[in-house]
Amino acid sequence: MPGGDCKHIDSCTLFPVFKVKSFMSIWKISYCQGNWSACVRYQRAERGEPIPTNLLPDGQVLGAPASAGAKGR
Ligand code: SF4
Repeated sequence: MPGGDCKHIDSCTLFPVFKVKSFMSIWKISYCQGNWSACVRYQRAERGEPIPTNLLPDGQVLGAPASAGAKGR
C-alpha cells in the first residue's frame, strides 16, 4: 500500500464529493488517502485515459443499474 495522499486529489472530480458526503468518506479513506494506486480513476489518469465523473475508485459506476453485469449468468 503506497500511503500518503493521491497526487490527483486537487484535480479529481470525485474527491470533493467524498469530502462533503460523509457516507462516501470510506472511499476517501480507503483510496485517496491510502491505497490510491489501486484506484481505477488514478490508473486511468496515469494512462491519460478519460475518466467518467461517475466512475468509483473500485471500478463501479455510480448510478448504474444494480443488476448490470451482476446477474443473468
Ligand atoms: S478517487 Fe482516485 S484519482 Fe480521485 S483522488 Fe481518490 S484515489 Fe485519487
